[in-house]
This record gives sequence, C-alpha cells and structure tokens, in this order.
Amino acid sequence: MSDKIERVKTLIIGSGPAGYTAAIYAARADLKPVMYTGMEPGGQLTTTTEVDNFPGYPEGIDGPTMMVQLQQQAERFGTEVRIGMITSVEFSKEKGGIHKVTADGEKQIEAETIIISTGASAKYLNIPSEQRLRGGGVSACAVCDGFFYKGQDVAIVGAGDTAAEEASYLANICNKVTMLVRRDEMRASKAMQHRVHSIKNIEVRYNTEVDEVLGEQVVEGLRMKNNKTGEKEEIAITGLFVAIGHKPNTDIFKGQLDMDETGYLITKGKSTKTNLPGVFASGDAQDKEYRQAVTAAGSGCMAALDAERYLASIGSVEEAVADQYKL
Ligand code: NDP
Repeated sequence: MSDKIERVKTLIIGSGPAGYTAAIYAARADLKPVMYTGMEPGGQLTTTTEVDNFPGYPEGIDGPTMMVQLQQQAERFGTEVRIGMITSVEFSKEKGGIHKVTADGEKQIEAETIIISTGASAKYLNIPSEQRLRGGGVSACAVCDGFFYKGQDVAIVGAGDTAAEEASYLANICNKVTMLVRRDEMRASKAMQHRVHSIKNIEVRYNTEVDEVLGEQVVEGLRMKNNKTGEKEEIAITGLFVAIGHKPNTDIFKGQLDMDETGYLITKGKSTKTNLPGVFASGDAQDKEYRQAVTAAGSGCMAALDAERYLASIGSVEEAVADQYKL
C-alpha cells in the first residue's frame, strides 16, 4: 500500500462507451486522464454478442471487441487505464477544489476533475436457468439483440414502459411475443399499454412469472407459472428478454451528488455538470431514457469537453500547457 497521495488532473470512473469516449477526448485535450475500469471492464457491452447499431461498423462488431478497440484508442492518446474500483469518494463543494477518492479500498487519489461513467446494470430475475443462458438467448436489451430473433417466437418479462416499448419493438421483428406480467395490471403508461394491446402478435399473460427457462446451451422454451392458480405451462421460444428495470451504479455517490429516486445522477440542462463543480456525469449513470452505446459515447464526449472548459476556467489547463512547453 502506497501512502503517497497521487494527484491527477482528470479521473474517469467507469469503462463503457461513455468512459472511453471521455478518455479519448480528455487525452487529446491533454487532460492526462486516468481511468478506473470498475468491476466489469468494458461495461454492459461486454455482455452482449453482436453490436449492429453502432455507426461505423457496416458488418457489426461483437461487444467485447469493440470495447477493446475503444480502450486501445483511448490509450493511443495517453489515457492510463487501470483495472480497479473506486471504492469511496469525498467530493469538494468548491470551484477549483480537489476531489478525493479511494481506489480499491486503499489507494488515495486527488483529482482536479472527475468524469463519472459508471453505467447502469440491467436487473435480472436471478433464477439459475436464466443466469446460465445469459448470452445464449437470454438478453436484457431488445434493441441490441432483437434482430437475431427475426421471425421467431420470443418472450419478454416485465410490465413497465421499457417492457412495453421493447415488446412493441420485438413484435415488429419476431413472429410472436409473449409478455409476462406478474400482477393483474401493467405499470407502463396507459398509452404504452394501449399500444401493446393493439399489436396482434403480442400476447400478454397477466399474473404470470417465469418458472424456468428451458434449454441446455441455448433457449428452447419457457415454463411459465400463473401465480394465482399455480398452473404451469410450457411454450417454445428461442429468446427471453428481461425488462424489469435497470439500476444505475451510483451508490458510492449517494449523499454527495444529486440523483433521482432511482439513483440516476441529475445533470444540469444539456450539460454533463452535476451539482458539484468539477464533477461531470455521462452515460447510463445519468440517462434512463435512451441507454444506447452511441448516446453514452456522445455524453462521454460532452463530459470531457465540460471538464476541459472547467479546468480552463480555474486556470488549470493553461498551467498544464505551460508545463509541457516549459513556459
Ligand atoms: P420500471 O421500474 O418502471 O418497471 C419494471 C417492471 O418490471 C415493473 O412492471 C415490475 O413489476 C417488473 N418487475 C420487477 N421485478 C420483476 C420480477 N422479478 N419479475 C417480474 N417482473 C418484475 O422499469 P422500466 O425500465 O420499465 O422504466 C424505468 C423508468 O424509465 C420509468 O420511469 C419509465 O417510465 C421510464 N421509461 C420511459 C419510457 C418512455 O417514456 N418512452 C421508455 C422506457 C422507460 P411491478 O409493476 O409488478 O412492480
């Protein structure tokens, strides 16, 4: 354990598309970014297979490869990528103040500016058959993976706006969508419910839960259970979409940064500014609406530009340039 406190100009927390894009921009602006990757280097995209909707990849690209390439691009301009976790933070409330963080429970770091890109994690049902078949037909993102089930029968679990929206999306692509709603009504807005009910190839099953996902290597079917009658029924499907909400990875910022009731960080207007000067938030940690790799990357870029402007406003960027050229 080192007792010397390290000082960095820009600390990036999290390594999804938002974090790496912030790193590319910050490194090119000479903000000397240091990135802590978090528990899941590369973020949520490393859990998907093919990414077909990120512009610039006409043949698609698999998620893990894309994240390695983003890392290489960030490193090419001098980002220091560290595999590790930021375990606690003590943010300054003053403009120009120094933010203190602890990495991996022991290393003390001081940062002039911080970009948060800790992402969000999809919630899963956490039953063994579902966990075993993640990546083998169980997905938490219809927009990412729905295309692979073109013309096939799938099921979706959940009854909020996301589930309703994703069921409609899947209905356009798939032969049939069975929607499992655990209560006798949906949580989704009336407009979304109406939309779901008006689509002929969506069958909504109320009071219905997943009993078991069937299949060894890939999803082959679903055993459903009616929680009122106890009755079980099996259907043949090739894909199961879980849309029961996301949890933003923002627990360590509680009490310091403004967040909504579900933990999404609140940013000011169109910027990535949080309620504290020098602390910026990008990607899914602050976006419950769009949650796409490309929108996360866009907000990572914005966070780096906001950080650069902030450092310039406190005189820090000029100092760095002066150091570099020995002015
Ligand atoms: P929500 O938290 O709104 O809904 C989660 C749904 O999953 C609920 O219906 C819940 O059931 C169900 N659920 C939770 N756990 C389980 C479980 N173990 N088994 C079965 N079902 C379960 O999440 P969303 O992602 O849908 O939405 C998040 C926020 O984003 C909301 O505020 C939503 O309005 C907003 N949003 C808005 C959109 C839009 O306006 N276009 C699009 C997408 C999201 P139950 O109802 O029984 O608790």
